[in-house]
Amino acid sequence: MHIIEHPDPMRETVRAWRREGRRIGFVPTMGALHEAHLSLVRLARAQAECTVVSVFVNPTQFGEGEDYDSYPRDFSHDEALCREEGVDALFHPAAADMYPPGHAVFIDEPPAAKILEGALRPGHFRGVLTVVAKLLNLVEPDVAVFGQKDAQQLFLIRKMVEDLNLPARILSGPIVREQDGLAMSSRNAYLSRTERTDAVCLRRALDRAQALFRGGERDAHVIRRAMRERIHEAASARAEYAELVDPRTFAPVTEAGSASLALVAARVGTTRLLDNAFLDPTPA
Ligand code: AMP
Repeated sequence: MHIIEHPDPMRETVRAWRREGRRIGFVPTMGALHEAHLSLVRLARAQAECTVVSVFVNPTQFGEGEDYDSYPRDFSHDEALCREEGVDALFHPAAADMYPPGHAVFIDEPPAAKILEGALRPGHFRGVLTVVAKLLNLVEPDVAVFGQKDAQQLFLIRKMVEDLNLPARILSGPIVREQDGLAMSSRNAYLSRTERTDAVCLRRALDRAQALFRGGERDAHVIRRAMRERIHEAASARAEYAELVDPRTFAPVTEAGSASLALVAARVGTTRLLDNAFLDPTPA
């Protein structure tokens, strides 16, 4: 496995592969890799002869007072997991090489980046879209794989790729969960024991939305309120939003339908967690 610490050799490596006719799969991450990241690596490997994983905690997507400095970083652990998974190149650039002095151009956010996560984290998606555009330009993948766990991010990346005519095909991987239903996240490491137990409330809120929908409830307001109530049953949790959107536009809906996407964000203690699920009228 190549370990590449600078943008220039990253570009040279993939260009050499491409000259040999090899397709390139790419999984961008912020590291602290877990089983969900590895599921994306497996999807990428099934699509391409060469797989690149990036580990880059992107400073421009963190707001002031957020967890950029304390975000979990464990490169040797990430490296070992990538080796085991048969990753071909691990790209681990320094922030100063991705954003050298004078870096000034950013991707402008569309309106769908200003709601939900974007409303609570102003400028977050400007940073996400900018770094993803830069990474796609450096790695030039045939296929780039992102998780459904960050549904709004996935929507916005697909929109950027479409609107800016970027050549990569975007694939998504399903949400990978712990046994009790908590969506895997590098931030789960912040949770205390009781918070870890409480954190399952996000999944419970989505299950509640499903149950109401299957029972015939269509009023989005009623479903949103029920999701919030479920989150607040956990003592250490505060809902930040509980929403139903049309996944084709990310616009909130007033009437739930079988294509609606339920999204929740909550703070459990001080840790922000996200989860989402498509409403499905058929019993599980
Ligand atoms: P991160 O390192 O948290 O920025 O995540 C890197 C990629 O992994 C993103 O595309 C995430 O959506 C995806 N991801 C993170 N957690 C999960 C999960 N539990 N299930 C599926 N994809 C995930």
